[in-house]
Amino acid sequence: MNELRTVEEQLETVLARVRALDSRTLPLAEASGFTLAAPATAVNPVPAFDNSAMDGFAVRFADVATASGSAPVTLRVVADVPAGSAEDPRIEPGTVARIMTGAALPADADTIVPFEDTAGGLADSLGEIVVLQAPRIEGAHVRRTGADAHAGATVLGAGTLLGARQLSALASVGIAEVEVARRPVVAVVSTGSELVAPGQPLSRGQIPESNGLLLAGLAADAGADVVFREVVGDEGDGPAEAVARATALGADAVIFSGGVSAGAYEAVRQSLGDVMDFVKVAMQPGKPQGFGATAEGMLLFGLPGNPVSAAVSFEAFVRPALLRMQGRAEIERPVRRLPAGADWRTPPGRRQYLPAVIDAEGRVRPATRGGSGSHLSVGLGAATAYAIVPADVEQVSAGDLIQVWEL
Ligand code: AMP
Ligand code: MG
Repeated sequence: MNELRTVEEQLETVLARVRALDSRTLPLAEASGFTLAAPATAVNPVPAFDNSAMDGFAVRFADVATASGSAPVTLRVVADVPAGSAEDPRIEPGTVARIMTGAALPADADTIVPFEDTAGGLADSLGEIVVLQAPRIEGAHVRRTGADAHAGATVLGAGTLLGARQLSALASVGIAEVEVARRPVVAVVSTGSELVAPGQPLSRGQIPESNGLLLAGLAADAGADVVFREVVGDEGDGPAEAVARATALGADAVIFSGGVSAGAYEAVRQSLGDVMDFVKVAMQPGKPQGFGATAEGMLLFGLPGNPVSAAVSFEAFVRPALLRMQGRAEIERPVRRLPAGADWRTPPGRRQYLPAVIDAEGRVRPATRGGSGSHLSVGLGAATAYAIVPADVEQVSAGDLIQVWEL
């Protein structure tokens, strides 16, 4: 048993070989899916200037402080300030400006009275107005300069994944381009003489190749560009040839699946034994793992071929490495603790990663009724999470608190 490495030991071995990718500057519109390489600081504050939060009137608070239904206050409208207006009209005591949401607050005004608090509302808003309700406080409905971010403030830290919400936040502070890590370049190589293209009729012994799509898709989800995806047979030197091709294309990693365990026809093991180490890791599935790096620093992942094994191994080792390359602040999925919604057995001495679903009550259950077999590629399609059960647990009972990665 002690010949097995822990998942942490294997991950440490992998991360020790990861090198940070260089960075480049991109316009915001091209930066989705990239990782910020330097902190982003606000050029302009947000709000950029004091402005109105309501459609209504910019007033002097002192003029309306006592207004009520029984003691209404009449004021004269001397200006109209739509959003985008550069006007700063004088507001003498007893006068107001009509103002729209987002328009700059005139310097002489300090408070907004919304249309709703006047007798005439929008319909009667350009002559005289009758205020029926005093603002709650001076400054009511005014959005203050810099309340969300001051100029120069750090808006997003280095290592942040940029998506729609982040990019719009950067746009709002006046940033036009960002420094981001280059995307990792990855090749995906499936090994196995039994593999045929999906949809092709199956002769005896053949199965559809599915890991290529799986691993290329997971790599893309982790921010990588897939330069090529191919299948090589178990005879010959296909894996080493793939490494040569990936090197020529400047790839940062090659992800192999299959051919890493202890059988008679283990293509990756036989072809790349000089540059990769093949070890056993205390996890289920995913026990046989190959890993190494070329002289150029290109990472070589040899994942076991069973589809669930390949998927789990990607999560445990490849994804953290791809995110670390990009300088991502968080390289592991957050762990939630949820109660089990069923009983299931787990392998002794190995940490279990079980494709799982989270039910409407927030309980975690196996994704398939067929159990935890690593060949159950269809159950993988139902999974929205992995349940992670420690090596020293052999049986999960409904109600036990289980660690979960949500996918
Ligand atoms: P291996 O790790 O090569 O011993 O493969 C383990 C199991 O996974 C075998 O049943 C293979 O047929 C299956 N397998 C290997 N590679 C793939 C693949 N790319 N797509 C689907 N199944 C695969
Ligand atoms: Mg094989």
